[in-house]
Amino acid sequence: MNLSKNQYIEEILSLKKENNAVILAHNYQLPEVQDVADFVGDSLALSRSAEKTKADTIVFCGVHFMAETASIICPDKNVLIPDPSAGCSLASSINANELESWKKEHPDALVVSYVNTSAEVKALSDYCCTSSNAVKVVNSIPEDKTILFLPDMFLGSYVSEVTKRKNMFIWPGECHVHAGIKAEDINLMLKKHKNAEFLVHPECSCTSSTMYHIATGDLLKTGHILSTEGMMKHAKSSTFSEFIVATETGILYRMQKENPDKNFIPLKNDATCKYMKMITIEKVYNSLLNNVYRVKVPKKQADRAKLAIEKMLSIG
Ligand code: SF4
Repeated sequence: MNLSKNQYIEEILSLKKENNAVILAHNYQLPEVQDVADFVGDSLALSRSAEKTKADTIVFCGVHFMAETASIICPDKNVLIPDPSAGCSLASSINANELESWKKEHPDALVVSYVNTSAEVKALSDYCCTSSNAVKVVNSIPEDKTILFLPDMFLGSYVSEVTKRKNMFIWPGECHVHAGIKAEDINLMLKKHKNAEFLVHPECSCTSSTMYHIATGDLLKTGHILSTEGMMKHAKSSTFSEFIVATETGILYRMQKENPDKNFIPLKNDATCKYMKMITIEKVYNSLLNNVYRVKVPKKQADRAKLAIEKMLSIG
């Protein structure tokens, strides 16, 4: 059925009521998908709202591993993703077989997995981490323990630079968005916009290369590394009127919407995640109408993955 954008929105709102559903959207989603969502945030914030919701159905507008995390946290809910092929180049850089072989090479090591991993990889991990607590998680592990850190090589290099940990092996995975962000490009932008503040949002690894360059002192200016909410608050209270924002460009929509008198410049215009943009308003409508596409992590795998997620949450 071909509807106008407003008709899709109306239909979505009524189907949501009918199905007792909630729509959760990641910050990198298309503007119209963010507008129809009940909650917009980063993957951790979305998992937390999935945990709290009283709705029977969660329509997860993000990439597949995020919907899996919602299914792990809320096994009794009907978790739907509007497009099941919305993957993640970073999460797919390692699978369970590859991790099992890596573990065999280092039988005494502990595995720290970034949240951008599939449920099967989380289930084989000892700890999960986000980009904002990866340093804390690694520091909580006894110094004599070898660590296998995966899958993001930039986040891993950043953590090893900050913690000075030598016994840490890093998986060579990367996200296609951050792969193109080089120190020289950042310095060029910083020179061009001398009066702008430099904000870095490390969600989703799209800027973990920037975090690494900051830690190694390769940049002209030190950026503020902030969470989504930290970024929103900072943009509001800062006396600066211009900001260079290092993250996937989707977040700029919300920043500009909430601060219309300020100017937000993306560090790289083409820093967009093609997987995130696969979720369209039409697909959200179809998802609610036809109760598709269900994401269900098998119980045994979900229970094991939950342990790694809970360890991460207990560290903060
Ligand atoms: S921005 Fe990168 S890490 Fe995030 S979902 Fe897209 S491909 Fe994965």
